[in-house]
Amino acid sequence: MKLHHHVAVSTTLSMFLFMIFKSSYLSVACFLSGILIDLDHFIDYFREQGINLDIKKFFRICEHAQFNKILLLLHGWEWIIVMCTISWSLGWAPLMTGIIIGFSHHIMLDSLYNRTHLRTYSIIWRWSKGFDFDTVFPGLTPLKYKIK
Ligand SMILES: [Zn+2]
Repeated sequence: MKLHHHVAVSTTLSMFLFMIFKSSYLSVACFLSGILIDLDHFIDYFREQGINLDIKKFFRICEHAQFNKILLLLHGWEWIIVMCTISWSLGWAPLMTGIIIGFSHHIMLDSLYNRTHLRTYSIIWRWSKGFDFDTVFPGLTPLKYKIK
């Protein structure tokens, strides 16, 4: 899913959360985590392209799926399980709960937008496939070879 879609959905969801729960921590945490989770794309970009801050190139590579391997360190259901456990132990603190909501809706939207199986957003499953982009995202592979 593209950045401006995530910004729009995160903004809307955060506003609803604020209207319902009147918690700035919950709302802001959901907004920021729903967008900033995508910073993990920089890890894959730097790993394959070297360290450079050519933002246009970064977006072109991400939007056209120009990866051989894909780690997506933060895009994992496993993190949500870990964060739910932590949040539960903290009595569902608004800050942590907001981060969980942000991560969860972001990953669900990515999965729907990219038309992937839910397992695609499991770090363990991607690891079992050697983080091979074409295996993990077979539906996005045509994009990769269309624009070269
Ligand atoms: Zn994403």
